[in-house]
Amino acid sequence: MPQPIAFVTRISPEEEQVWLAALRQAMPGERIESLSSLTREEREAVEIAIVANPDPADLKQLPSLVWIHGLWAGVERLVSELEDFDVPIVRLVDPQMSHTMAEAVLAWTYYLFRDMPAYARQQRDRLWAQLDYKRADETTVGLLGLGALGTAAAGRLKEGSFRVAGWSRTPKVLEGVESFSGEDGLNALLETSDILVCLVPLTPQTRGLIDAGRLARLKPGASLINFARGPIVVTADLLASLDSGHLAHAVLDVFDQEPLPAESPLWDRPDITILPHISAPTDRRTASAIVAGNIAIYRETGALPPTVDRARGY
Ligand code: NDP
Repeated sequence: MPQPIAFVTRISPEEEQVWLAALRQAMPGERIESLSSLTREEREAVEIAIVANPDPADLKQLPSLVWIHGLWAGVERLVSELEDFDVPIVRLVDPQMSHTMAEAVLAWTYYLFRDMPAYARQQRDRLWAQLDYKRADETTVGLLGLGALGTAAAGRLKEGSFRVAGWSRTPKVLEGVESFSGEDGLNALLETSDILVCLVPLTPQTRGLIDAGRLARLKPGASLINFARGPIVVTADLLASLDSGHLAHAVLDVFDQEPLPAESPLWDRPDITILPHISAPTDRRTASAIVAGNIAIYRETGALPPTVDRARGY
């Protein structure tokens, strides 16, 4: 059997055991152990660590480490906490997660598109009023981010007959998606979007991306869905835009602080829908199979899957 694989986490012991079971089932030929179960000699030989919110000090106990496989899709915390620890990071790219996220984008787009927040308010006020119906093919959904998740979301939205536009760092050619990049491209995307969906990673470039100026560029009555990371949207600016009536509604799955504190003013707002970071949960079974596949290729060929570009931040 090759050197053991270290499982390095700061998740709860119960969750750690469930993950270990799933990973071991996916890799019967490997020995996967939590760090505390490895002897000093074994730690010194470890080449691969599977990580879920690891303590950087734990990883530093593995002097032969060649690469780290994360179990989450977002890597901003790994990149910032492992700034001075120069080991390649592989993040989770799982088609099942893309499918789940695309489903969530479609579900909450329909929620906004079919005026469900307004009808909920009308019901509360015992008000019978039919709002104008606007067709899906007259409604533009703007996707910030056309990566694994954004591309999958674009596909589902197109199936729903929505007009789809997307913005990415590098220009993209995607059938049926009007694609933009750069600052001018971002402005054009904002100006065309009825529903703006945030699916970019949190990096130094995207922190605070959706601020007062950019919200003002959206069409009056537009809505926002943030399924990426809280700090990409400036909360105070979001609230001001909702207060002014420029933005109609926001669906938020991610926040500056999670769990969202009970005293947060966001909870009480009828123009904000709060979700507890649930738009695309990691599927342990498919995630473990992806990790297993990547490790099998490494064992066979020494090749790593695409790694996180630390300078880019994702
Ligand atoms: P990818 O890396 O596959 O895609 C990221 C996209 O964002 C790419 O199109 C990239 O452009 C674009 N992008 C990055 N930086 C910029 C920038 N500065 N300007 C313009 N475009 C930019 O990531 P995923 O699609 O897999 O995931 C996106 C994020 O979703 C994750 O980082 C994570 O934070 C979040 N997430 C949230 C979950 C939830 O449950 N709420 C679950 C899973 C992920 P380019 O294509 O040119 O590189």
